[in-house]
Amino acid sequence: MRKIIHLDLDAFFCAVEELRDPTLRGKPFAVGGQPESRGVVASCSYAARRFGVHSALPMGQALRLCPTLLIVPVRHSEYAAASRRVMAILHTLTPRVEQISIDEAFLDVTDRPQAAAALAVDLQQAIRRDLGLPVSLGVAANKLVAKIANNVGKAAARGDAPPSALLVVPPGDEATFLAPLPADALWGVGPKTAARLEALGIHTIGDIAHWPERDLVQRFGKHGQELARHACGLDDRPVVTEHERKSISQRTPLCAMSPTPRCCAPRCSNRRRRWRPCCGGSTCSAPPSSSSSAGPTSPR
Ligand SMILES: [Mg+2]
Repeated sequence: MRKIIHLDLDAFFCAVEELRDPTLRGKPFAVGGQPESRGVVASCSYAARRFGVHSALPMGQALRLCPTLLIVPVRHSEYAAASRRVMAILHTLTPRVEQISIDEAFLDVTDRPQAAAALAVDLQQAIRRDLGLPVSLGVAANKLVAKIANNVGKAAARGDAPPSALLVVPPGDEATFLAPLPADALWGVGPKTAARLEALGIHTIGDIAHWPERDLVQRFGKHGQELARHACGLDDRPVVTEHERKSISQRTPLCAMSPTPRCCAPRCSNRRRRWRPCCGGSTCSAPPSSSSSAGPTSPR
């Protein structure tokens, strides 16, 4: 049985900006480009979210929703440096860290004698104390459930302040925890799959778990099998460290790779692993959203 922690820094770019300028605290503000240069919201404070402002929204639209919105220019090098400091703290706990974006990571703490929940509390406190950054955590026996637990914990704690959530799903409770959640809270269920499931009368993850797997496979192919397993809270994907990932990619011959490798994508290189700024000047495209369908299939 694994012990997995999923970590996600709360409104990360905004939190870094608040450290630089504490007067921003509690105010509606967005990090991103100016509306006149067709900038978009890269990150926004929780006070701004109350007005319906969210990542990837054109800044002009964000200002219409929240006329008092303050716009803070993006400073990628600062966020990258803060991210490195967070990852260094994670590595003091275990070398088994999988960074999936600038502000998100999985940790496998199976080898640690302490309970994963206790380690998560320590981690949350250390990141807050040493770096002044709020962070939310999900704890479970696998990556799938830890990530969803974090999403659920954050959603439950929504307010003007960062959620700093911590939600633990005890081993054995995975399926019960997932059952009442909407089907699109599951990894790999995007709007298209969600619509197809909806048409079948499948609304929750529990509905998927009760649906005959054979039928899911017939309708969704290999993905159907994955859906059935995930809906039951089963996921055996390991935490893959940066070192392991590099060694895997070095061993993989070029001919075995996709004809359009991810690294050729215009917006980001290896989008699933690491978000890179794809903008210059005052405009900025948002990082991949950390929507509920996030995970190794579409994280952040
Ligand atoms: Mg985050």
